[in-house]
Amino acid sequence: MSQFNLSGKTAIVTGGNGGIGRGIALALAEAGANVCIAGRNEQKNEKVRIEIEGLGASVIAQRCDVNDNTSIAETIEATIDAFGGLNILVNNAGIVTLNSPEAITDEEWMSLIDTNLNSVFRFCRAAHQSLLKAGGGKIINIGSMYSIFGSPFAASYAASKGGVVQLSKSLAVSWAEDNIQVNAILPGWIETDMTAPLETDMAEIHAAIIARTPTRRFGQPEEIGGTAVYLASSASNFVTGQSIAVCGGYSIA
Ligand code: NAP
Repeated sequence: MSQFNLSGKTAIVTGGNGGIGRGIALALAEAGANVCIAGRNEQKNEKVRIEIEGLGASVIAQRCDVNDNTSIAETIEATIDAFGGLNILVNNAGIVTLNSPEAITDEEWMSLIDTNLNSVFRFCRAAHQSLLKAGGGKIINIGSMYSIFGSPFAASYAASKGGVVQLSKSLAVSWAEDNIQVNAILPGWIETDMTAPLETDMAEIHAAIIARTPTRRFGQPEEIGGTAVYLASSASNFVTGQSIAVCGGYSIA
């Protein structure tokens, strides 16, 4: 059987109802995994659930707010009820706000750090016991180019995504002997709802990003899926605490 085969494995994808999360959820399902789509918007959840069901995969949609511990616990419980266990956790849910650092309010800062960083910790902590029970597992956290670069207009976002990388390393070290591998994917600029305003309202920045990207284009959400399958599969059993940039070369140019 292929090292990349995920048959019999069960994954939760936070924010799996759109954008990069949907791309990852589809790829995991195509590789054979059972999938829980965990997002706040139930209509979006249901749409992706039907799409994945159409692939012949086993899938549930679960309303989940990653900022809420009860909601996280319910999501893990619903997944285990449906599929009998948990093997793969993808912490993908995230938001962005744009502001110069001197204008960021406490409320704006806290809200972004809560959704993009604290939630990753909360979900990993809640999933640990279930992954242990399964004999180990895979955690994939979604960072960003701003995990490694600074930004003049997204200091809170960059701080959160830098934190995701450092958290992933610490969890990787802590849980290595539990056979839980924890890695991060750092997407480059990907066409999703999050980046759509760049094209419509910030044409100059959009053009500058393309000019700065060696492949001269934005990526598609599906292009993150393959790396997620690799990090979710036994092919990456000796890979932990790493960050893999999927960015069309943006991070090396
Ligand atoms: P998106 O299309 O806006 O998707 C964001 C997802 O996060 C949505 O599915 C949303 O679900 C979910 N979400 C937000 N807050 C949530 C909460 N409190 N609880 C549960 N789900 C929540 O954006 P995207 O571009 O796909 O972003 C996905 C991830 O990739 C984010 O972590 C983002 O920072 C990261 N990223 C994106 C890019 C890019 O260029 N697009 C680059 C690097 C990193 P609901 O609508 O149901 O709330």
